[in-house]
Amino acid sequence: MADPQLPLDPRTIFLLATLMILLNGAVLGLMHRSLVADVQPAASAWRIGTLLVAMGCLLQALQTWLPPMLALGLSNGLLLAGLTGYVLSLRLFDGRGWHRWLLLPTLFGTLGVLWFIEVQPDLPARIVTMSAAMCVILLACVRELRRERPAEAMTSRRVLTLIFALVALLTAARLGITVYAPPAGSNLLQRMGLVHMLALLVTTALPVIGTTAFVLMCLERIRGQWQQAASTDYLTSLANRRTVAEAGERALHAARRQQTPLAVAIIDVDHFKVVNDTWGHAIGDHVLRHLARLLVDTARRSDLPGRYGGEEFVLLLEGSDAGQAVAAGERFRTALAASPCEIADAPRPLTVSIGVAVLDPADRSFDDLLRRADAALYAAKSAGRDRLHLAP
Ligand code: GH3
Ligand code: MG
Ligand code: MG
Repeated sequence: MADPQLPLDPRTIFLLATLMILLNGAVLGLMHRSLVADVQPAASAWRIGTLLVAMGCLLQALQTWLPPMLALGLSNGLLLAGLTGYVLSLRLFDGRGWHRWLLLPTLFGTLGVLWFIEVQPDLPARIVTMSAAMCVILLACVRELRRERPAEAMTSRRVLTLIFALVALLTAARLGITVYAPPAGSNLLQRMGLVHMLALLVTTALPVIGTTAFVLMCLERIRGQWQQAASTDYLTSLANRRTVAEAGERALHAARRQQTPLAVAIIDVDHFKVVNDTWGHAIGDHVLRHLARLLVDTARRSDLPGRYGGEEFVLLLEGSDAGQAVAAGERFRTALAASPCEIADAPRPLTVSIGVAVLDPADRSFDDLLRRADAALYAAKSAGRDRLHLAP
């Protein structure tokens, strides 16, 4: 029977929760194929977790008509296993895998609940056991969520952390209240206080709201990957032409505003066609990756190295005047001479020609600056290659 003081019958909550959780899980299932392969294992684990929680809620709703061993023992076990599914999902999301200790809270929680039903019937002890096991699993979720990848700051991730932390907090409050003011009688459904009711509501809402936040987290990851793919060069992982052009245009405006120098260097590999013709395209690619690594290693933190196309690289040098820009180019040329690329088990010397231009009041756009660097590069090629030319 429902407590006359409470507006809702806990069984109704459980039944409604089951329905909502199943519907939400179904949406995630329908979306599964449109998620990138990278997040699919995590989404599967999340769905299984959600299904187990839903089954746990259903058994809770039906507990008056089922033997307590089955209704309470199994439903609590399913709830804990479902929450463990969330821990696993969050681990998979970050590229970590399954670990045996993940099952421990579910195992101890379920055995404890069964003990306090069958062997030594004790409602407060049962609530404490279940709440403690839940708390451990929920805090494990919080911990997994807080191990964010440095390059990946996601709002949805923070929201999900907050949701798990809130449920953990309410579960802990429920545990505390049970210890200090144990509920009388043996049937929780008939004597549920406010905190118990709140904890129940929030716990059953977790799979619904949490699933939404989880889906958003998957979408944010996918968006990040798309952004990454659109802004970097696939072969060398350097910034691509578009990224350099955008950064260059921004740098030009900043340089004009702050009256600071700005330079750009275009680097072209000498006789690169010979590399491809002699050793094949794959070796050519290997050489380009070698050059990209060297360029990153010799650049300052404030410089932006990029691949401008084919065997041409670009170095955007914010704050560099002519002297510093020439020094940066020469640093790269010297580094290349000192570390020739290994081809067919032998070091093969490679050279580059470099054109450098420094921002001039006559430059109307970043393109103008690049055109002058390109002209300087052409002059370096005509003068015999393996050298750097500074645009007049
Ligand atoms: P130069 O000294 O005048 O610059 O001679 P070069 O042979 O380096 O110049 P050219 O422009 O004639 O040839 C550039 C070659 O770069 C031609 C093209 O096949 C090759 N290339 C462009 N992009 C790639 C790539 O992504 N991978 C490989 N392996 N080769 C590429
Ligand atoms: Mg070229
Ligand atoms: Mg070339």
